[in-house]
Amino acid sequence: MKLNRREFNIAAGASTLTLGLGAAPMVFAGNAKPKVVVIGGGTGGATAARYIAKDSKGAIDVTLIEPTKRYYTCYFSNLYIGGFREYESLGHSYAKLASEYGINVIHDWAVTVDRKKKMVVLGSGSMVPYDKLVVSPGIDLKFASVAEGYSVADQGIFPHAWKSGTQAQLLKAKVTGMKQGGTFLMVPPPNPFRCPPGPYERISMIAHHFKNNNPTAKIVILDPKDKFSKMGLFKDGWERHYKGMIDWQPLSSLGGLKSINTATGEFVTDLDTFKADAACVIPANTSGQIAKTAGLTNDKGWCPIHQGSMKSKVDPDVYVIGDASVASSMPKSGFAANSQAKVCAMAVRGELTKSKVFPARYANTCWSLIAPNDGVKVGATYKAGDKKIDPTSKFISKNGEDADTRQATYEESVGWYAGITADIFG
Ligand SMILES: Cc1cc2nc3c(=O)[nH]c(=O)nc-3n(C[C@H](O)[C@H](O)[C@H](O)COP(=O)(O)OP(=O)(O)OC[C@H]3O[C@@H](n4cnc5c(N)ncnc54)[C@H](O)[C@@H]3O)c2cc1C
Repeated sequence: MKLNRREFNIAAGASTLTLGLGAAPMVFAGNAKPKVVVIGGGTGGATAARYIAKDSKGAIDVTLIEPTKRYYTCYFSNLYIGGFREYESLGHSYAKLASEYGINVIHDWAVTVDRKKKMVVLGSGSMVPYDKLVVSPGIDLKFASVAEGYSVADQGIFPHAWKSGTQAQLLKAKVTGMKQGGTFLMVPPPNPFRCPPGPYERISMIAHHFKNNNPTAKIVILDPKDKFSKMGLFKDGWERHYKGMIDWQPLSSLGGLKSINTATGEFVTDLDTFKADAACVIPANTSGQIAKTAGLTNDKGWCPIHQGSMKSKVDPDVYVIGDASVASSMPKSGFAANSQAKVCAMAVRGELTKSKVFPARYANTCWSLIAPNDGVKVGATYKAGDKKIDPTSKFISKNGEDADTRQATYEESVGWYAGITADIFG
């Protein structure tokens, strides 16, 4: 079954927004249009910009600040590493957001936010004023947290490929270039991090490549955790497709990673030393730096929000969506960021134009490909609870599903990719 765009929009909660369209007269201060500035043109930010512009029908001035001219999705980058997608198929342009939705796209970094004056300061030195600010900068990586001997400079040797861009190409080159019979080592991040099943889907895709091109290769996972998302499904799939190739070492078995020697490829744990011929090291995640610079984060480095609107708990004129926000119980995912962006867009439009605002509804599904046509998924729908975003229904694939179900799940993910990227970029 493929999810077409309409089905995806309904699944992702867009229907609530459509109901609210044109519901009330526009109310502005004087003749000036209210101004919304969005920091970050990734999954959350570009969705919010498009929905605010589209649903306000020109009544709100929308500016999107994003340094890169083309957004490469992290989702499906594992499939690119496994040989199921071309790299260029992951790239998306901002052209339609400007030409069809009238969004002012500025390709620059937001370097700070003057929240008193309600101004975003750009790398160029220019200032962009706002009435409401949406912040969706995604994540940054805590390189120093991995182990002694590892720093940001080493991401070229052991790529993380955990942010949009060329790191995925670098990692693929390391995987395809690894010597025959060599050892590939993966260090997944500790919780919380973006895309909880992502490191394990990546292992599956690397194993798929090795099975066909380097069948005596081994994969070692030095995990800083004792369990992970969809663990039963992945372990069952690894046993069926890649028997004897993958050695998952949880925190409790080796006591954690102590140091890395990037020159020799040695990874030292409490009990053992592993020698890698190629590796992927994903440091702990934290919110994008601008969220911290703007003073929107808590002591754990993430941005607390009101769960009914995604409004910051620090500043009533600021919204934070996507990975940078504390949106538990939702995972940090592209599906979730897109869903949160629509709730945020409705709330922003409601405040600025007095259009009707409906109760927040969120949704998420994370698909993973284990082997060709063997797709699995986990997901939930949510509503705003008193303390958290609470699940209202949950589902997960089961071990032992027949091949048709697994193929249908994979095809559903392909439909989702087409649907969400059209929903984000127009
Ligand atoms: C390997 C991998 C696989 C994944 N697979 C899936 C999947 O299958 N399904 C799924 O739903 N999710 C998946 N994800 C997670 C998904 O990519 C993220 O959760 C999602 O992109 C979060 O959206 P965001 O808007 O918070 O951040 P991003 O999409 O990362 O966007 C942030 C944007 O902000 C910009 N930015 C940062 N700082 C500034 C600044 N100071 N000024 C201006 N712009 C700035 C960045 O350039 C970037 O474009 C995956 C992630 C990885 C790493």
